[in-house]
Amino acid sequence: MKQEINALNMEELELALIELNEKKFRAKQIFKWLHEKMVTNFGDMSNLSKSLIDKLDENFYITSMNVLERLESKDQTIKYLFQLHDHHIIETVLMKYKHGYSICISSQVGCRMGCNFCASTIDGLERNLTSGEMLAQIYTIQREKDIKIRNVVVMGSGEPLENLDHLLRFIELINIPEGQNIGQRNITVSTCGLAEQIRKLAKANLQITLAVSLHAPYDDIRQSMMPINRKYSIQTLFDACDYYTQSTNRRITYEYALIRGVNDTDACANELARLLKHRLSHINLIPVNDVIEREYEKSSEVRIQAFAGQLEKKGINVTIRRELGSDINAACGQLRKSYQDKEK
Ligand code: SAH
Repeated sequence: MKQEINALNMEELELALIELNEKKFRAKQIFKWLHEKMVTNFGDMSNLSKSLIDKLDENFYITSMNVLERLESKDQTIKYLFQLHDHHIIETVLMKYKHGYSICISSQVGCRMGCNFCASTIDGLERNLTSGEMLAQIYTIQREKDIKIRNVVVMGSGEPLENLDHLLRFIELINIPEGQNIGQRNITVSTCGLAEQIRKLAKANLQITLAVSLHAPYDDIRQSMMPINRKYSIQTLFDACDYYTQSTNRRITYEYALIRGVNDTDACANELARLLKHRLSHINLIPVNDVIEREYEKSSEVRIQAFAGQLEKKGINVTIRRELGSDINAACGQLRKSYQDKEK
């Protein structure tokens, strides 16, 4: 079976070349073709001999994906639907900010975490994405738009910490100077709170930003929204988060989607402030995106401001996420879902 060449790091690429009776220095050339110039055909690697190109073709493939749909919002956010080699569909969002382009990539096809306000999880998990498929979301968009992406958030469909090995390889590869050279500090990974995996990630001691989807400060409310809370209570989650901060010295971002009448009360704000008060943290309030299949409604603007104000008064770092791309179903698995429903 052919191997995914763009998932190999430099050492593995060197070993592979030695096995093919080629010179080790070719690894760097090939790496640059794959990760700097982002080619999708071995034939385009113009400084390699025909015989080496043939050998590569025989043993390896380069991940590529087809753009199925491209939806551009008034605010220039673009949502891409990609089709993978096995016909699965994933979505990726490109956002333009003052300081440059950010991309939100998927880490799995579908998701099995079951959060009941999220569209990505409605049809369950199909499979993990490979590290090459995580990279290809970025490369395909950079190529077609001729841009350089500066920030990556792993916040699309899927639970990245369930796919930790591929995620770590992705971070390693996107970071390499001969390729995209995207610094760890420009990468955010979002998790629904897999406590054991957070501890594993802490051991990798990266400088990425960890974002934790908290969404409620009480177990009963969180449990009603996120089944994972039955496995890892808020206390267990915070224990893992504290371990993460101690190991990496990095501030954790907590995400909190405000849902009218569910988690936007004064009591929730107070309890949240109590939980975060002595932790190196930052809270990102998100007006929940409406999902047709879900009955939730977002909190009113006034309520969101009041909630934020209450946290601020208690000295908590808080931001309210600007809503981008809401006119193009940019939120959380909605486009993939509506595309697949149309095809059924
Ligand atoms: N599984 C990971 C990453 C993917 S979800 C996680 O749970 O963090 C990315 C973020 O989008 C999470 O914070 C998730 O809770 C949030 N999200 C999902 N559906 C949403 C919706 N309808 N409105 C607002 N945020 C939503």
